[in-house]
Amino acid sequence: MNVPSYSSQDAPVPVGQIVIERAITPLDLGPRFNRTAADVVRFMMQQGEMVTATQSLSDELIEAFANDLGADIKIVNPGEEQEVELRKMLGFDDDDVEDDDVDEDAEGAPLRPPVITVMGHVDHGKTKLLDRIRNANVVDGEAGGITQHIGAYQTERNGALLTFIDTPGHEAFTAMRSRGAQATDIVILVVAADDGVMPQTIEALNHAKAAEVPIVVAVNKIDRENANPQRVLTQLTEYDLIPESFGGDTIVQEISALQDIGIDELLDQLLVVSELAELRADPDDRAQGVVLESNLDIGRGPVATVLVQTGTLKVGDPMVSGAAWGRVRALINDRGESVKVAGPSTPVQVLGLSEVAEAGDEFVIAPSEKVASKVADTREHWQRQSSLGRDAAATSGGARLEDIFEQIQRGEAAKLNLIIKADVNGSLEAVTDSLRKLETPEVSPTFVHRGVGGITENDISLAGASNATIIGFNVRPDRKAREMAEAEHVEIRTYEIIYKLLEDIESAMVGMLAPEFEEVVTGDAEVREIFSVPRIGKIAGCYVQNGVITRGSKVRFIREGTIIWKGDIKSLRRFKEDAREVAAGYECGIGLSDFQDLKEGDIIETYEEREIERSIS
Ligand code: GDP
Repeated sequence: MNVPSYSSQDAPVPVGQIVIERAITPLDLGPRFNRTAADVVRFMMQQGEMVTATQSLSDELIEAFANDLGADIKIVNPGEEQEVELRKMLGFDDDDVEDDDVDEDAEGAPLRPPVITVMGHVDHGKTKLLDRIRNANVVDGEAGGITQHIGAYQTERNGALLTFIDTPGHEAFTAMRSRGAQATDIVILVVAADDGVMPQTIEALNHAKAAEVPIVVAVNKIDRENANPQRVLTQLTEYDLIPESFGGDTIVQEISALQDIGIDELLDQLLVVSELAELRADPDDRAQGVVLESNLDIGRGPVATVLVQTGTLKVGDPMVSGAAWGRVRALINDRGESVKVAGPSTPVQVLGLSEVAEAGDEFVIAPSEKVASKVADTREHWQRQSSLGRDAAATSGGARLEDIFEQIQRGEAAKLNLIIKADVNGSLEAVTDSLRKLETPEVSPTFVHRGVGGITENDISLAGASNATIIGFNVRPDRKAREMAEAEHVEIRTYEIIYKLLEDIESAMVGMLAPEFEEVVTGDAEVREIFSVPRIGKIAGCYVQNGVITRGSKVRFIREGTIIWKGDIKSLRRFKEDAREVAAGYECGIGLSDFQDLKEGDIIETYEEREIERSIS
């Protein structure tokens, strides 16, 4: 490495905030401050840190260097530095690329409706509850209260509005969060009174807790004969949800989504929680929010359902979301009506974007159409570049589900190539994110392609070319695609329930994973005498101190506490006879494979490798 030896220590440091990528090397860091790599290395040495010019630096070291120069820096993850620049272009002078809390600056702004997500175990009644609320309490409108499924809806209770995200379950919630978007203010945890707390109940409450979102428990199906709400309450206490009736502060409402019992009370409870949370947003701000759903509509083009989180979105606004941009052509509310504006906490469909936006992406209103298009184009450029990189990685040496086991057996870290097709963008994101989490050091899912829509011949040919398995979520292959898949031996798996999908892939992956071993000591013997046997070599006359010494077992040879050799027992004799095993308290002769340097007092320790049960957690 060529580290310039001259110093530039007197050069002025650039003014203003300098954006630095995390884990930068001195070679790249120096020039940002008009310094050389050598300056950086020298500084690190003065701090007692020996680093080379090409070694990654910790955040602390980067900060120390910047502080020393009196420079203002911001450390971001690789790739994010461009995003910071784009935010500046969009007119945000803030530091909060990672900070999704748009409420922060809203002190003194008017209250806004709460945004609520329904979670819980499968079949506990999440969908029924969402339907019940939607149909019973829809905001009265000219369309006669008929709602459209646009991914979220608003309902009214005693003059107050509540916004519900229309995708039940925690997968979508988590997918959003993993993209840095937090759309939800309150979680309703639905637990069926006849079934109690189940695995997904626990998952859901953990997700809500991780997001620090208040939880309101709805004990559902209380109309059922075998309903036992009290048992649910007791179970919940195990997860730190202490119901008010038990002296805690968790709000619990007994309901029957089927028979419309307790629904209004549940809404009242939600309003109480919302009031306590003091959710505020300034309707006069430039609109910002998050994309909940998006799809390509024949006739209308790309359609995105967005949740406005702050500000007011208006027809004609220049919007940008990820690589999609456009002047808002029309806004359609949850009743299918065309509206001109949408304020905080309002879900609304947006028409006029250049392409299908990604669920979970933030949207903002740009200062001008020109800026919107520039930002979107820049993002698209990076996305293409990084996806080219990904595709190249995916097609080189990836494997399909059925071949991956061999790859692992060869001791290679295996890539599981997948093509994901789903019905809508939201579920596509949810499936992808959940699959990503299954990654282990041995197997990593790689996405060759992800898309919305049915499984087509294009997908099959791509799968064939890249050794991929096709996963369909709420979509199926057409007949032609199926025939082609059979001919080309492409595997297609289709699912309707996300946890079934994950369960399948996960168990396949556990089955595929190379077993992991732990070493268990089985016995030890002390060397007391050394015999030389012609043509065989040295034999250790031993006394078995602990456990059992078994022929063929693995050995660590220990001298004064240090392992000096590892191998296995070649021969084991008691008196003149071959023995299969010798227990503690007996003497024996031990011959070791190719190890001859025996000394009195050495210890021969035998051990076994036992397989540890694997699971992916
Ligand atoms: P999800 O998987 O959590 O969305 O559950 P669904 O809303 O699809 O409900 C699962 C099943 O439970 C459906 O057959 C519903 O009709 C039924 N169900 C939902 N709520 C109630 C209820 O309050 N009482 C009874 N008896 N059945 C219910």
